[in-house]
Amino acid sequence: MIGMIVTCVAIVIFHNYFSLGWAEIPIVTAIILLYALLPDIDHKMSSITWVFLISGCLLFWLGYFHTKLPVISQYLPNDTTYFGGAIMTLAIFSALLLPHRGPTHTLWFVILSPLLILLVPNLNAPVIPLMIIAALACYTHLIADGYLFKLSLAPKEGRW
Ligand SMILES: [Zn+2]
Repeated sequence: MIGMIVTCVAIVIFHNYFSLGWAEIPIVTAIILLYALLPDIDHKMSSITWVFLISGCLLFWLGYFHTKLPVISQYLPNDTTYFGGAIMTLAIFSALLLPHRGPTHTLWFVILSPLLILLVPNLNAPVIPLMIIAALACYTHLIADGYLFKLSLAPKEGRW
């Protein structure tokens, strides 16, 4: 929660540097919300795991049926099905396989996870600023959990 506020303040301050306009506000908000919660995708019952499962499932079926629903199809890119499927798979595997506060609570994750934005189909926004914002939001989660410089992939260890 504090992380989201900090990220928002940072964006307001660096608004010109991030080269973002008013049109990007919804996507920026979504990215802050998602990435501030994303490290807890390793948790079986965390809200982000549910968000990913439900939205992934929705996108998967919307993409699957979009040829039969011409009203929706003009707003949906063709790879929506794959994108939804990828989100669901990611949520299921990370919740089942990853130890809590393990690999997703490291600086590696902060650096690498924003690359997922590149997979979003038909994104009409500057990608690099969005990736920087995502990394920032993600890092605030680590700060809140008390892992400032965690590089080791092992969960809950004594040192950084
Ligand atoms: Zn966490």
